[in-house]
Amino acid sequence: MSHCNTRVICGDILDFIEDPAIAGDKAHRFFPNGALVIEAGKITQFGFEKDILPQLESQSESIELVRYDGKLIMPGMIDTHIHLPQTEMIGAYGEQLLEWLTEYAFPTEKKFSDRAYASKVSKHFINELLRNGTTTALVFGTVHPQSVDAFFSEAQQRKLRMIAGKVMMDRNCPDDLSDCAESGYQESKELIEKWHNVDRLSYAVTPRFAPTSTPEQLKKCGQLLEEYPDTYLHTHLSENKDECAWVKELFPESADYLGVYEDAGLVRKRAVFAHGIHLSERELSCIADNDAAIAHCSTSNLFLGSGLFNLKACEKHGVRVGMGTDVGAGTSFSMLQTGNEAYKIQQLQGEKFSAFKGLYLATLGGARALDLEGTIGNFNKGCEADFIVLDSEATPFIKFRLAKAKTLHERLFALMMLGDDRCIEATYILGENQYRRDRTPQFVETTS
Ligand SMILES: [Zn+2]
Repeated sequence: MSHCNTRVICGDILDFIEDPAIAGDKAHRFFPNGALVIEAGKITQFGFEKDILPQLESQSESIELVRYDGKLIMPGMIDTHIHLPQTEMIGAYGEQLLEWLTEYAFPTEKKFSDRAYASKVSKHFINELLRNGTTTALVFGTVHPQSVDAFFSEAQQRKLRMIAGKVMMDRNCPDDLSDCAESGYQESKELIEKWHNVDRLSYAVTPRFAPTSTPEQLKKCGQLLEEYPDTYLHTHLSENKDECAWVKELFPESADYLGVYEDAGLVRKRAVFAHGIHLSERELSCIADNDAAIAHCSTSNLFLGSGLFNLKACEKHGVRVGMGTDVGAGTSFSMLQTGNEAYKIQQLQGEKFSAFKGLYLATLGGARALDLEGTIGNFNKGCEADFIVLDSEATPFIKFRLAKAKTLHERLFALMMLGDDRCIEATYILGENQYRRDRTPQFVETTS
């Protein structure tokens, strides 16, 4: 019986080694007719097919060749902020953040006290991530530990790199969605002990946002981070103006919104704050100085009317930024669509947002926000082989438009504007194909 030691994926290979805002055209690497070499689930090398293949053939090991000629091969997308339980209420009409939570999010989250239900939704949720080319995500569960337990079980079975946590909230929420400072701490601790650093899974301490936690609970979050220094902190920050005013009322002692988290010891490396729209210079410097990160959630910000994210200010301060779909306030699982809306948010502020920047944020930028550079996010030697195959001919119209593209940037930008799950032809996890798009004929012949 023969077995393959080496798998080679051929196609047009693109990845990033730096932020295009810093390195310009040197930020990306592009090998048309390239080859990506994988051994034992990790990248060993990549480059032009004509250079790589002869070199491999001279070695005696068996090689499996997979051809995606004319297709784009990229690292898997990284979604730095998404809610598992909100999958089923995406597209809920008519409200801004605080009313939207009460009206839609909380009632849906109650269903996750049932582990079987959480398990069923986790399957759908992960299928949808893979269908959209997302291979790693930072995920909100609900207040129920079983929601996270169900999600981790499903992610583990599929060998995914995922980060998640149980929501902690002990005030300003429905009684049956409330923990308390002590029980939230204990339940989180048990989940950390069970799941953190198991296979490719990591735990995130997850207070929902400042208004739903007492200062005691936020302190307990800080205690968890001290006890388990390589866990993550995942929460919301400065999304909506009413929310910001409310935080000021609830925490009069703190310098500002970020100061609430700072006072509890939560602003640190591996802390990811979703949104960060209405931030002061002080808050931006503090995030940068402490090596924390912001998840920019474009479709959600527009959907809830929250405001326009100031990416330029983050670049100026050197803040780590990733992109998040924020499903279910976000309107798409697709990181391409998230890039599309991010472009429009910058346009509304008179700023440019290239496809290079968008795809950087969706891959290496996300890895950096999650402190996972060197593990995922690009094709450097030794990185885990989570990657996707993008089809520029996914629909007749996308094919028609992309055929007119004269430069790499034009091709990528049109793909970011028009593309979504339909363009994800395949998703690979640790070098194994886990999702393949089903292509069924769209029209039948009619007789008259
Ligand atoms: Zn969110």
